[in-house]
Amino acid sequence: MPKEKITLVLATRNSGKIKEIKALLADLPVEVKSVGDFPQAPEVEETGKTFFENAFKKAKEVAEATGELCLADDSGIEVDALGGAPGVYSARFAGEDATDEANIAKLLKELEGIPPEKRSARFKCVMVVYHPSGKWFKAEGVWEGQITEEPKGNLGFGYDPVFLVPELGKTAAELTLEEKNKLSHRGKALAELKEKLKTFLCELS
Ligand code: IMP
Repeated sequence: MPKEKITLVLATRNSGKIKEIKALLADLPVEVKSVGDFPQAPEVEETGKTFFENAFKKAKEVAEATGELCLADDSGIEVDALGGAPGVYSARFAGEDATDEANIAKLLKELEGIPPEKRSARFKCVMVVYHPSGKWFKAEGVWEGQITEEPKGNLGFGYDPVFLVPELGKTAAELTLEEKNKLSHRGKALAELKEKLKTFLCELS
C-alpha cells in the first residue's frame, strides 16, 4: 500500500453520500474530497442509458477537470412489471426535480392492480473510479425486493418506503442506516470498491 495519501474526489455534492464514503474509506491512504472543493469541476449531465454509462462519464469528466483520482456513482430502481423502468430515470420519474413523494405516487399508480408476486424490483448501484492517466475500475451492487401497495416507514430516502425487503418483512424505510448498509446495493458496491481500491492504489504508486 502507498504511504503517501492520494486525493480521491467524489463526483457528488450529496453530503450524505460523502459522509458514508469517507467513513468507509477511513483506513485507506486516501484524502477524500468532493467536487465542491474544485470550482473548475463541471456539472456533468446524466445522459447515459445505463447506470454504468452515467457513473463512467461523471468519473472521467471530473478526473480530467481536476487532475485527481475520482469516484462517481449512479443508482436507481428497476421494476420488472414496468420493463425495468424507472432505471436511470429514477430521480426524475415524475418529472425534472420531482419529489420522492411524486415519484412514489407515480410508481404505485403504474403498478395498480398488479399482484405482489409480479411486483419484483431491484435497486442497483454502479461506482467507477477513474484516474487522469486513463486507468479505471468499477464496482457494483444489487438489492432484490418487491414494491409494496402503499408506503411504510419514514427512514431513508427515495423509493425506500415502497421497497419491501422480503426476508425481513419490512420496507427499506423501516431499517436503520446501519441495517440498510449491510444489505443495500450501495453498501455492497462500496464493499467491493474498497477491496479493489487497495489493489488499484498499489498499481498507481
Ligand atoms: P443518484 O444515484 O443519486 O442519481 O440517485 C438516483 C435515484 O434512485 C434517487 O434519487 C432515488 O430516487 C433512487 N435511489 C437510489 N438509491 C436509493 C436508495 O437506497 N433508496 C431509495 N431510493 C434510491
